Amino acid sequence: MPYDYDLFVIGAGSGGVRASRIAAGHGARVGICEDYRVGGTCVIRGCVPKKLLVYGSKFAHEFEDAAAYGWSVPEPTHSWATLRDNVQKEVDRLNGVYLRLLDGAGVKLRMGRGRLMDRHTIQVGEETVTADKILVATGGHPVVPEIPGREFAITSNEAFHLPDPLPKRITIVGAGYIAVEFAGIFNGLGCHVDLVLRRDRVLRGFDEECRTAVHDALKDSGIELRTEMQIGRIVAIPPDSKGGKATYQVNTQLGGMFETDVVMYATGRTPNTAGIGLEKAGVQLDKAGAIAVDEWSKTTAPNIWAVGDVTDRINLTPVAIMEGHCFADTEFGNKPRKPDHRDVPSAVFCQPELANVGLTEEEAKLTLGEIRVFTSAFRPMKYTVSGRHQRTFMKLIVEAATDKVVGAHMVGDDAAELIQGLAVAVKAGATKAQFDATVGIHPTAGEEFVTMRTARVEPAPTRKAAE
Ligand code: NDP
Repeated sequence: MPYDYDLFVIGAGSGGVRASRIAAGHGARVGICEDYRVGGTCVIRGCVPKKLLVYGSKFAHEFEDAAAYGWSVPEPTHSWATLRDNVQKEVDRLNGVYLRLLDGAGVKLRMGRGRLMDRHTIQVGEETVTADKILVATGGHPVVPEIPGREFAITSNEAFHLPDPLPKRITIVGAGYIAVEFAGIFNGLGCHVDLVLRRDRVLRGFDEECRTAVHDALKDSGIELRTEMQIGRIVAIPPDSKGGKATYQVNTQLGGMFETDVVMYATGRTPNTAGIGLEKAGVQLDKAGAIAVDEWSKTTAPNIWAVGDVTDRINLTPVAIMEGHCFADTEFGNKPRKPDHRDVPSAVFCQPELANVGLTEEEAKLTLGEIRVFTSAFRPMKYTVSGRHQRTFMKLIVEAATDKVVGAHMVGDDAAELIQGLAVAVKAGATKAQFDATVGIHPTAGEEFVTMRTARVEPAPTRKAAE
């Protein structure tokens, strides 16, 4: 046995942990290293704690709606310290679960930062280990643009640990997943939220009608949307003589200015490729700075693979898990399979949620012939009694030639849960006729997806016009 391990994984996040456990299950001798905590972005400072904060913030709306249903709710108060600390306790618990999973699978965990010394040698802290095959799964980190005063800004990493009480005013910069999710969280928890975005609407890349529905809903919920605005400089205003906290003056590039208590940047994430010795092992990056991989997740080095956000394909936890699992099955389980990046469903946990699978209307117009578009917009039953001004929007996109449903989109409560089910149908190539033949569950929002009958026809020439 020339090497210490058959497989050594750098980074114990979602993709790395899945790959190491599956490879070990196939009989490989597997080691993994991690320099912080096991579980990665999703568990430590991403999906999981974020979703718990979303749950916490939504109680504000529940209390409001309860009155019309006959409940007398005393003026609710909220303790950020309680929510924050309970969420971190859950993160601690999950960290323990992950440690036990690795241990139970027989994967040797080495705490410390992994650095490639050559194609088969990895330095972890003061130690050096060797491996036949190596998987890089180091994830990504938030980026804050180079503007004067950027040192005063926090990112989502710090947002989970803000001191108690929460600031009265928070400014969030960006209009992607993280920005709109945290805007909803802090708005629900009682902060005044300024959302600063450089375009006219949030969530570029999502279906246009859904973007508009989310944008309008965020505005209705009281979030201040500062559109087509770029920040030029952040200036700290020192605490006043009475021992208050520092506040910040946010200066826009066009000369505007407003004050806030916290500035949070959510302007994208970048792969963690620096300082891990990729160049010593012949692992090349692509033009965008991610590790270049082929469809098997193989890098430019013949014995090194990479999965997850460090490859910047689709930066979602379940995708990293799929990539890691496919790699392990292929290389150690004698079951070659490639990750399938088509029809990956996703959700944005803004309030109300946005979820989708398949093509947007705009993508369908560009890539297909004639399409039929079905939409439904309505006030959810729950809010007919409570009077909440919140609407649900649903959309199906059908390829006319085949009758296949090629896209399903929803903005509304529980959109993620609903679209997860529909994703099976879309992935399986279900036709609109099969949707129509499905009996609805009444009364639900979901039944709309099987009762939409009136189509807007978008003829094929639209595609040419768009090109
Ligand atoms: P996104 O890539 O989703 O969004 C980045 C946002 O920042 C865009 O609105 C972009 O605007 C804006 N932006 C970029 N640069 C600047 C700048 N210099 N000044 C002003 N605005 C700027 O990144 P996130 O950080 O929100 O999330 C990172 C990734 O994490 C996501 O892509 C997603 O894959 C993953 N994620 C998934 C979640 C989920 O599944 N629910 C939740 C959270 C994260 P523009 O559109 O104009 O480019």
